[in-house]
Amino acid sequence: MINVNRLKERMLQMAEIGKTTNDGVTRLALSNEDKQARDLFMQWMENLGLHVRYDDFGNIYGRLEGNDSDAPPLMIGSHLDSVPKGGRFDGVLGVLGALEVVESILENNIQNERPIEIVSFTNEEGARFTPQMLGSGAVTNLFSKDYTYSRTDKDGFILKEELQKIGYLGSQDNRLDQENVAAFIEMHIEQGPVLETNHKTVGIVEGIAGFSWMEVVISGEANHSGTTPMELRRDSLVTASSAIKAIHEWARSKKDGTVATVGEINTEPGIMNAIPGTTSFTLDVRHPYKDGFTSCINEIRESIEDIVDEDSLTCNINEIKTHPPVTFAENITSTLEEASKKHDIPYHRMTSGAGHDAMYMNTIADTAMVFVPSISGKSHCEEENTHWEDIEKGVTVLYESVLRKSRE
Ligand SMILES: [Zn+2]
Repeated sequence: MINVNRLKERMLQMAEIGKTTNDGVTRLALSNEDKQARDLFMQWMENLGLHVRYDDFGNIYGRLEGNDSDAPPLMIGSHLDSVPKGGRFDGVLGVLGALEVVESILENNIQNERPIEIVSFTNEEGARFTPQMLGSGAVTNLFSKDYTYSRTDKDGFILKEELQKIGYLGSQDNRLDQENVAAFIEMHIEQGPVLETNHKTVGIVEGIAGFSWMEVVISGEANHSGTTPMELRRDSLVTASSAIKAIHEWARSKKDGTVATVGEINTEPGIMNAIPGTTSFTLDVRHPYKDGFTSCINEIRESIEDIVDEDSLTCNINEIKTHPPVTFAENITSTLEEASKKHDIPYHRMTSGAGHDAMYMNTIADTAMVFVPSISGKSHCEEENTHWEDIEKGVTVLYESVLRKSRE
């Protein structure tokens, strides 16, 4: 039905672009490597006779016409950019897996009713230009054109100019039609250990966890480390330590998929011989379900405030960014489930802890995702890997689901 060896060959060829010493890839958005990857992908689609185009955000589309060319297209795809020293599968699998699906449809002489469009979104990783998922966010109007174009990397390079430089600043007319997308299905590596742990081959992703990113600033009193007696100290770092430990234990005790991470800490004055007067740390809290998301975030905020209160210090919790949980379309997840059943592929319904382009596509069309297992749950690193047998099954589920959805 599908040809996993052909897909493997393409994936390995793609992995040569930006290849790192330990078999990973560095293919930052709109870099020279990204350009090479885009060119190759465009070439492959043209070879299949697809109608290929890119829009004013550099998102690339390849369209296979259907019997009814006016029908809203079914879209499948992901992204080609990577993080520094990332893996060979993240994003690329969803793009080249979609290409394999379309090539198999052509090869098997299958008549699709509605058009099928493969898409590769610009700057999904957010590793070069923040925020992540810029291309899908821009084309679904979640980011304005000015905002998107003015994103600047750490060396001062501006997104619009970089798009132009690599030759992928296309026309606005080439964008997907927001009002007219039948559905979007994204295949991706899981990037976590759930499928492997549960001995399942395919993940049917019902939604994406919501997150709240916060900055917690705890204020005490800075003073001399040698002359201030212990009982007179108001040490913000000591209180922050209690809070951080409590955050970890709170999330562990929830057992409902809540995760919480403190990833960055700063102290002031931040020198060896002074009591830290102010400590700030970042807090990333994620919760999978709409029900309970807000109360979950409020719960941890209150408990941090209580801990700080007990030590008679003060704190401010500033929201950096919050995105509620996303629920994917049941009509797509049920199609993915039927497809898995038909081919006897062991599947697992789950939510994603990481953000994906599907999250933004979900705002304009019925959307869902297919996951394949990540060996040892590893991703965003050179060791990122997935068994080809699992990839074959994942693409089979995608293929079967595309057949069904393209006939509707
Ligand atoms: Zn990805």
